[in-house]
Amino acid sequence: MIYLGCHLSVSGGFEKMGKDALKLGADTLQFFTRNPRGANAKKIDENDTKAFVNLMQQNNFGKIIAHAPYTLNPCSADENTRNFALKIFKDDLSRMEYIPNNYYNFHPGSHTGQGVDIGINQIADMLNKSLTENQSTIVLLETMAGKGTEIGRSFQELQAIIDKVELKNKIGVCLDTCHIFDAGYDIVNNLDGVLKEFNSVIGLDRLKAIHLNDSKNAMGSHKDRHETIGNGNIGLSAMFKIVNHPLLQGLPFCLETPNDADGYKKEIQMLRENINS
Ligand code: FE
Ligand code: FE
Ligand code: ZN
Repeated sequence: MIYLGCHLSVSGGFEKMGKDALKLGADTLQFFTRNPRGANAKKIDENDTKAFVNLMQQNNFGKIIAHAPYTLNPCSADENTRNFALKIFKDDLSRMEYIPNNYYNFHPGSHTGQGVDIGINQIADMLNKSLTENQSTIVLLETMAGKGTEIGRSFQELQAIIDKVELKNKIGVCLDTCHIFDAGYDIVNNLDGVLKEFNSVIGLDRLKAIHLNDSKNAMGSHKDRHETIGNGNIGLSAMFKIVNHPLLQGLPFCLETPNDADGYKKEIQMLRENINS
């Protein structure tokens, strides 16, 4: 079995977000920790987070994913941007302890012309300055499409970051199907081979979550434009193979497809009908 859910908004509170997930037939979810393009985060209401944690337990949710804002770039050439990333990252990790034992996913960043090696060092530096032995959260590096100067376009780049992290037990990877397809990994014709490569470069024990998205563009396009499930270049039969793959069982799968609530509900239902188990 897999856990299946979608991206939701926490703007109405955590408990409301959990109830929204249930209405869609989800048993996991993802949300932005703060405005995806800005810095503002709402003050935590402990009654609300407790009610949310209870709701998830009562309904057998899998791990959920908090997503860092897109503005977070720990490997920008601009020092202020890097300092801002560190501050937001630390603050988000402290807030995550109100919904303990879940995942915090972030885009490794864009090196903005500094080069991949410097970028990787700066990303690892932010992680080493913010991860703590006591945190219950596992931080996930997201696989990226390789748009512009994005780092994380290959499994090797992600592993190069992990190699430099001290608290390796706090690090995992979130595999985004649209992103790796756009990065050039052939999950349509060679899913087994791609997972084998992931295992040999990073190790499947680090794979903690899946972003399930179809792609508007061709394999290797480095574009990163998500499509609804079955309507892009990855296609329905590859999607069904992904959700049923024996090596991916037990993971949370989150849709980040261009959908409203009703569209997500239909996609979740359609996928569940095609999960064998
Ligand atoms: Fe993402
Ligand atoms: Fe994603
Ligand atoms: Zn994306």
